[in-house]
Amino acid sequence: MKPHWNAVTRDRAYFSYHRCPVCGVLYCPEFFMEAELTQFYASMPDNTLGVAPDVLKKTQRGYFDVLKRFSSRRGGYLEVGPDLGFFTAYAVQENTYNHFWLFEPKTEVQSALKTILAGRAFDIIPSMLAVDKIPPQTLSAVVMVHVLDHLLEPRKILEQLKSRLLPGATLLFVTHDESSWLARAMGRRWDG
Ligand SMILES: [Zn+2]
Repeated sequence: MKPHWNAVTRDRAYFSYHRCPVCGVLYCPEFFMEAELTQFYASMPDNTLGVAPDVLKKTQRGYFDVLKRFSSRRGGYLEVGPDLGFFTAYAVQENTYNHFWLFEPKTEVQSALKTILAGRAFDIIPSMLAVDKIPPQTLSAVVMVHVLDHLLEPRKILEQLKSRLLPGATLLFVTHDESSWLARAMGRRWDG
């Protein structure tokens, strides 16, 4: 499955999703196991897929401005799946968070992330999110851009995270929207 996962072939595989008619939850009936996903992410190239960096940076800037409106920007900062760290860079420039935790399983982007965080207190953990690596009551911001809807057990993760938050912490999640015009226009080929 690796070539399909990394989207390098024309012949892409799509996992269809369903909405439960009873409770309305949107889910994938068939997907990978945690161990398989860990392998896939580790060998994956950065996620930008040839999109111009300034376009990506502008998008991330828009997301960061939303965080800025709500976050006290004191205390710890957690980002899951920062990829090349465009969002992280904005958080670092503000110079207010006292410690950065990044969970990023892709080996290819590790050195880019280290460069961004140079001179700050940080931990870059090359795995999927492991909440137990974060001390209790330390985070004032949690950021996941296109990550939450890829977690196998989002609810469990969120419940675990709760004990790691400082009072008044801000959580920023950017998720794909299957009810969007883009999703409707793309139909079965929607890349959510
Ligand atoms: Zn249901």
